[in-house]
Amino acid sequence: MNAVSTTEVAGASGGRDLLGMSAARRRSAELEAMIREEPGRFRVLTGDRPTGRLHLGHYFGTLHNRVRLQDLGAEMFVIIADYQVLTDRDVADQVSDHVESLVLDHLAIGMDPDRTTIFAHSAVPALNQLLLPFLSLVTVAELGRNPTVKDEIAHSRQASVSGLMFTYPAHQAADILFCKANLVPVGQDQLPHLEVTRTIARRFNDRYGTGGPAVFPEPDALLSAAPLLLGTDGGKMSKSRGNAIALAATADETAALIRGAKTDAERRITYDPATRPEVSNLVLLAALCQGRDPHRVAEEVGAGGAAVLKRTVTEAVNEYLAPIRARRAELARDRSHIRRVLRAGNERANVVAEATLAEVRVAMNGLY
Ligand code: ATP
Ligand code: MG
Repeated sequence: MNAVSTTEVAGASGGRDLLGMSAARRRSAELEAMIREEPGRFRVLTGDRPTGRLHLGHYFGTLHNRVRLQDLGAEMFVIIADYQVLTDRDVADQVSDHVESLVLDHLAIGMDPDRTTIFAHSAVPALNQLLLPFLSLVTVAELGRNPTVKDEIAHSRQASVSGLMFTYPAHQAADILFCKANLVPVGQDQLPHLEVTRTIARRFNDRYGTGGPAVFPEPDALLSAAPLLLGTDGGKMSKSRGNAIALAATADETAALIRGAKTDAERRITYDPATRPEVSNLVLLAALCQGRDPHRVAEEVGAGGAAVLKRTVTEAVNEYLAPIRARRAELARDRSHIRRVLRAGNERANVVAEATLAEVRVAMNGLY
């Protein structure tokens, strides 16, 4: 669907190889080949925090891959990470509205609840019980080195760092491993967390394995062509940073947000993510929506400057999102359907989590 190569887009990393991005991109290309050959061998877990409406960073960073994997026939789990809302705020206000909004966003983009299990983290006790043995498998020093946690602490609204914030990559290991997922479609910020999950899986298998098949797989990250989309202020597009274009925004809101997006002083538009991150991010957005090469989009706008670029992006985004927005508005009329989808997902996730916890107990010699 899109003409953006996974190896080309540097995103906001400014071309530097942050977080082992080249290795992660190479691995993602290998995984894509395996997915094409045998999608059914993949069990996929992804998810989001219910901290607001999903945005274009989510869409091109991971949601688009979720729909694609589901439609190819991979087994899918989507977690709504409600406990994780508390990592960087004192109260989970409006969380139930945000949970509904996440379910709606997923249904609107094409996730099918008959094929994909959509569930809430807090509704699955056996999943959460994995956390205690998992926490014993990572050191405080390892948790303290995590660059994404450091960045989130820097942007946090809290005066001090809670134990939950510090340990949340270990919670994510439980989120991923409870269903033995072997593939996790994520944005770039999640790569350090996935390393924690892989470490925990490996150490659990080494420590408690009995020579039979490993209890847990070491899951791979699957990056998209846009693993780090920037927001209107030039930083990572995030629900919590007031810089996001929501999938559910109106066409007028979208136009206003893009009009206010940061650009630079150079008039001619080019696509060069390493030296012109903000302008290139806008070019990329239009390219992703139109399924075109970003260099071609930049050439066409050329001397038209930021005004023409913003007009192009606005039209491309609004056109691309129009059917998703229409479907979302339609689905939003039936709240009881959304609740039913979530309840069914919670039930399925509980069955899977209890089976995994039983295996963990056996491995840890804890059946009494
Ligand atoms: P919050 O600000 O509340 O943390 P968020 O916008 O960072 O919200 P998350 O729920 O933390 O969203 O992330 C969900 C998924 O979306 C993750 O896989 C993450 O990597 C991906 N993602 C989030 N923001 C972006 C972005 N700007 N570009 C690409 N992928 C993104
Ligand atoms: Mg986040």
